[in-house]
Amino acid sequence: MPRAILYIDREKLIENARKLYQFTGKPLIAVVKADAYGVGAPQVTPILEELEEVSALAVACVEEGIELRKVGIKKKILVLGGVLKGEEKAFVEYSLTPVVSHREHLKALEGIDVPIQVKYDTGMGRLGFLEEFIQDQRVEGVLSHLSSPLDEDFSLLQIRRFEYLVKNHGRLPYIHIESSAGILYRVPYTTHIRVGLALYGEKPFQNYPIPLRKVLRLKARIISVKTLPAHFPVSYSRTYITDKPTRVGVVAFGYADGLMKSLSNKARLYYRGKPLRVLGNITMDMTMVDLTGVEANVGDWVEVVGEHQSFTDLAKLAGTIPYELMTNLSKRVYRHVV
Ligand SMILES: *Cc1c(COP(=O)(O)O)cnc(C)c1O
Repeated sequence: MPRAILYIDREKLIENARKLYQFTGKPLIAVVKADAYGVGAPQVTPILEELEEVSALAVACVEEGIELRKVGIKKKILVLGGVLKGEEKAFVEYSLTPVVSHREHLKALEGIDVPIQVKYDTGMGRLGFLEEFIQDQRVEGVLSHLSSPLDEDFSLLQIRRFEYLVKNHGRLPYIHIESSAGILYRVPYTTHIRVGLALYGEKPFQNYPIPLRKVLRLKARIISVKTLPAHFPVSYSRTYITDKPTRVGVVAFGYADGLMKSLSNKARLYYRGKPLRVLGNITMDMTMVDLTGVEANVGDWVEVVGEHQSFTDLAKLAGTIPYELMTNLSKRVYRHVV
C-alpha cells in the first residue's frame, strides 16, 4: 500500500470544467502539460476526454502529446512548445497540432499537411511572433498569452494588440488568450479559453468569480511516533529543539515527494481537522510533526492538502506558486481517481 496518495475527485473536476464553460460561454482547451500539472495526465485526461465542454487538450512538447495518444485520447492536442526539425513526423503520426511561434517551426513543417495554430507575443516575452504576421493555408487558429493577468491595464493592452492580429486573420475556428486568471476579462472576440489550474479548484486569485470545487486531496501516513524529552533536537541541522516533552510523529512525505524544504518549521499538516506543526527540517522522505495532545498513531493518515489547506495556501507559505508545488509531486505519490 502506498504511503502517500493524491486523490483526484472526478465529479468535482467535471463540475469545475462545466463552471468555467458556463461562466465564459466558451469551450475549453484544457492545459495538461507537465503530467497535468503533476496531478497525473493518465488519470486526468480520460475524464476531460469525456466532456463536451472540452474541445482540445494542450501540452508543452511532442512527447507529452504522444503519451496522451497512447492512453487513448482522441481529442485535438495542441503542442504549445512548437515543432523542431525532426519532430514533424510525430505530429502527423500522432495527429498533434503544433503551435507555431518561430520561423524555424514553419520550416520544420514545410510540405507537411497538418493544421497549425500561430502564437503571437503581445507582451509575454516568451513564445510568439512579435512583428511578423503569419499567413499560411494551414492556419486554423491563433493564440497569445497574458503575462500578468492580475494587472488589468497591461492585460487590456495585450488583449487589444491580439485583437488587431485576430482581425487581420479573419474568421478562424480557434482564437484564444484567456488562462484561468485571464477569464476575468471576458474577451469578446475569442472562441476558446485555455485553462489549467482552475480545473483543479485552485483559485488563481482571491475572490475568483467562479465558485470552484476542490478536486485534490493529498494524504500521507504516519510511520513512527515517539515522545522526545525537552531540549531534544528534531531533524537535520537541529533547527528545532523541543522546549518540553514532545510527542513527535514521522510522516512518510518529504521534499522528494513534493513538500518543499522551505516549508520546514512553517507548514502545518492536519489530522482530523487538527493542525500539526512541522518540526524541524523536512527531509527527503519524511517530515516530523508535533502530535502532542493528538491521538494519532502509527499507520494513521494525515492531510497534506485537502479540506484545511490547498496547494495555493501551501505555496504562499513556501513563497512560491501552486503550479510549482503541484508539479513537484513525485511519482512515488500514488494517484487515485475517486
Ligand atoms: C500553462 C499555460 C496555460 C494555462 O494557465 P493556467 O493559469 O493554468 O490556466 C495557458 N496558456 C499557456 C500558453 C500556458 O503555458
